[in-house]
Amino acid sequence: MKRQPASIFNDVIGPVMRGPSSSHTAAASRIGLLANQMVGGKIKKAIVEFHPEGSLATTYHGQGSDIGLVGGFLGYNPEDERLVNSISIAKELGLDVIFNIVNYEATHPNTYRLKIFGQKEEVSATAISTGGGMIKYENINGFPVEISGDFYESLIFCSTNKVAQNIEKILEKENLDLEYIQKSSKEEEILLNLKTMKALDNFFCNRLKKIDGVFLIMNLSPVLPVISSKNCEVPFLTAKEMIQTHGNNKSLYELALLYESKRGKISEDEVYNKMKRIVEIMNNSVRKGLSGTDYEDRILGPQSHLIKKAMDNQKLLPGDLMNTVISYITSIMEVKSSMGVIVAAPTAGSCGGLPGTIIGACDVMELSIDDMVKGMLAAGMIGLFIAQSATFAAEVGGCQVECGAGSSMAAAGLVQLMGGNGKQGVDAASMALQNVMGMICDTVGDRVEVPCLGKNVMAGTNAIACANMALAGFDKVIPLDETIDSMYKVGHMLPSELRCTGKGGLSVTPTGIKIFEEMN
Ligand code: SF4
Repeated sequence: MKRQPASIFNDVIGPVMRGPSSSHTAAASRIGLLANQMVGGKIKKAIVEFHPEGSLATTYHGQGSDIGLVGGFLGYNPEDERLVNSISIAKELGLDVIFNIVNYEATHPNTYRLKIFGQKEEVSATAISTGGGMIKYENINGFPVEISGDFYESLIFCSTNKVAQNIEKILEKENLDLEYIQKSSKEEEILLNLKTMKALDNFFCNRLKKIDGVFLIMNLSPVLPVISSKNCEVPFLTAKEMIQTHGNNKSLYELALLYESKRGKISEDEVYNKMKRIVEIMNNSVRKGLSGTDYEDRILGPQSHLIKKAMDNQKLLPGDLMNTVISYITSIMEVKSSMGVIVAAPTAGSCGGLPGTIIGACDVMELSIDDMVKGMLAAGMIGLFIAQSATFAAEVGGCQVECGAGSSMAAAGLVQLMGGNGKQGVDAASMALQNVMGMICDTVGDRVEVPCLGKNVMAGTNAIACANMALAGFDKVIPLDETIDSMYKVGHMLPSELRCTGKGGLSVTPTGIKIFEEMN
C-alpha cells in the first residue's frame, strides 16, 4: 500500500488526550479501541506482552500505557475522563488484563503483542506505537496487515484462495467505493483487508458472512481524525519543494491550509475550523493550569503561578514575552501531569512548548484567536515535514524529536505571528532544530515531568530566539530538510539507554533512582 502523506491533525497536532505520553497513553488507547472492535466491543480477558529490550517493558506503567490500553479495551477514546480509572473500572466489570514481559522478536521498541478474548472469539495481534499517538497493527491472527486507524477496515478471513477469489469477483461486480484491497495469507487461509472512506453497508457484510468458507469478518472504524484515501495528492512533501513551488507568495499558514485540505479531501474552511477547535482546547489547558492542578502520582507540584507572582514582585530578569511563555508552558505541562485534557503537539511529553509559546506570544502582543490559529497552522506545516521524513517517537530519536521538533514548529509559528514569509518561517524552524540536535530522553522516576518541563521551556525560549534571528535576516546555513534528515540519523546513533528507557542520563543519577524507588 502506498505510504499516506502525513496529516497535520493525524500525525502532528493531536491527539486531544489525557495522560503523560502520546506514544504511551494515547497510542495505547487507540490500539485498545481497535482491539475492542475486533471482538465486537466485548473483551473478557486480555494478555499483553512487552519484550524486555523495548521501551514499554520499563515504562508501561509510569507513562500510562496500561491505563490507555485498558481504557481502549473498554471503548474509551484518548480524551475520556474515565481513562485515569480504567484499570479499577476494568476490574469492577470483570475484564481481566495481564501484562507480561516476555522475550520475542520485536522490530520496534514500542511493540504490543496481544491476545484478546471476547465472548466467543479469540484474537492474537501485534501492534506498535510509532510516536505522537500514531499506531500500526502489523499482524492479526497470524496474517500480516497494515492498519493505522485512518480507514474503515473490513477484514474478511477466508479458508482458501478460491473463496477469496470468489469474494474479489463479488466486490468487482458491486463496484464498491474501495480505496485498497490488501491480500495476505497464512498457510491455506487468506485475509482480504478492504480499506474504505465510509463504513461498508451492513447488509452487504451479512451477505459475505453467509458465503461458504468465510469464517470471520471484522469491521473496524477509524481512530484517527482525518481519513486517508488512495488518490490523495499533496502539493509538496519537503520544505524545499514547498519553497520552490510557492516561493514567498504565500505564508506558511496558507500553505498549511492548502496542504491539509488536499490531504484530507476537505475544504480549507474545515481545516481552519478543526485547528480553531484545537486552539480552544490548548487555551483552556493554559487557563486551567494557571488556576492550579492536583494529582497525587506526580513529582512536581503546581509551579506555573509562581512566575506571575515573581514578575509582579519584580524578582525576575525582565522580559514579558519570555516569562509569560515559561508560565504558560509550565501550566500546560501541569494539566498533562494531573490527567487533564491537553493536545499532543507534537507529543504529550512536549505538549507545552509549542502552544505555550504561541498562546503566550499572542497574549503578550494582544493578538486574536485567529492569529493563534494561523500560528498553529504554520507550526503544523513544519511538523509535517518532520513527520514525513523523521519521527516524533523519543523511543526512536530521543527528546530532539519531541521537544526539539516542538521548538522548531514554534519558531515558525512565531514568525507567522509577526507576518513573516514562508521562507523566514522555514529558516527559523531549521535554526531551532539545529540547536537541539542530540537531545536525549532521560525521564526521572519513569514520569514525564523531569527533565521534560525544562526541555519544553527550552523549546519555547529557543523558538523565540530563532524566530527573531530569522526575522532579522540571519543565515540558517543548513536548510530545514537536511537538518531534519540529520536529526533523524543522530537519533538512531543514540544508545537505547538515552531513548526513553529510563536507563541513562538523569534517570540513573542517585536522586533519579531515589525518586524512581519512591514513585514505583
Ligand atoms: S525527556 Fe523529552 S522526550 Fe523524554 S519524555 Fe520528557 S519530553 Fe518526552
